Amino acid sequence: MAEQAFMKDVRALVGKVYGRVYAWDKVNAPMIRQWCEVMGVDNPLYTDPAFVASSAHQAPRGLVLAPPAMLQVWCMEGMHANNYPPGSTTENPYEVLKLFEAQGFPAVVAVNSDLSFARYLHEGERVYYTTLLESVGEEKTTGLGTGYFVTLIMTFFSEQGEGADEQVGQLLFRVFKFRPAAANKPATDQAAPAVAPVVKRPRPGISDDTRFFWDGAREGKLLIQRCKSCGALRHPPGPVCPSCHSFEWDTLQASGRGTVYSFVVMHYPEVPPFDHPNPIALIELEEGVRLISQLVGVKPGAVQIGATVQVEFNTFDGDLVLPQFRPVAAD
Ligand code: ZN
Repeated sequence: MAEQAFMKDVRALVGKVYGRVYAWDKVNAPMIRQWCEVMGVDNPLYTDPAFVASSAHQAPRGLVLAPPAMLQVWCMEGMHANNYPPGSTTENPYEVLKLFEAQGFPAVVAVNSDLSFARYLHEGERVYYTTLLESVGEEKTTGLGTGYFVTLIMTFFSEQGEGADEQVGQLLFRVFKFRPAAANKPATDQAAPAVAPVVKRPRPGISDDTRFFWDGAREGKLLIQRCKSCGALRHPPGPVCPSCHSFEWDTLQASGRGTVYSFVVMHYPEVPPFDHPNPIALIELEEGVRLISQLVGVKPGAVQIGATVQVEFNTFDGDLVLPQFRPVAAD
């Protein structure tokens, strides 16, 4: 089938490289230290210059390396949208998505994010990236709807001056820009009274790694993944033990008792089908792991850090069972 006319404009953009987006700050020890603290990384390559000097890695004396996974951090815009440092491009590398929106493909979902690294960065380096619109696929219909896969590649460089800039990593970012499946259906009964559609709860994305958790919930069990090799508990579930890197795991049925470690109360936007204000907590289970869940049976203004909570399993939309937590009296 011949492509629609607007696709000519889309195809004309493929291959375009959008200009540099610079980092606000050079690679620096305070940001590295804080990132490691938040992420629970304790590799001395990132904090101890003496250790770096004794390692096989190259860095100027007295400087630490940056975790490769921080690559995107350096060029982030900060708290305010599109607030990039002087010298950065003002072009929008996502302009192709606007073309699709104008043609009735309003929705977008990220489908791939592949980060690759050429080498470590060290303190003092200035990073920038460019963005290539790598490809736009053929029209596809998926469970979500009909649309196009759009692939962008951000290439990160360390500024070395005069044509000597070094490529340090790449991010492949692919999105699906689509018309939601429901919007494809023609209106069936024009005479039907206008009834607000019933908005269902968003469904969890269930994979081979997480299926046990949702199966457990349906049986009224709060199952936590446990490493068979070292016994460490972990949540959210994943294929590998972060402590010992073993792929072997089983599960522990948690008591469901815990405390509110932290929380937010969502006021706006009021997203259906949730009640608002909507209290959402980070629960620390008595087994030691934390998970995020909605709180029930408590006024949003009365949530307290440290409050004792107990899991309960509630069913939504007929077959969706979610663990939720309710404050209970402390022992
Ligand atoms: Zn382990």
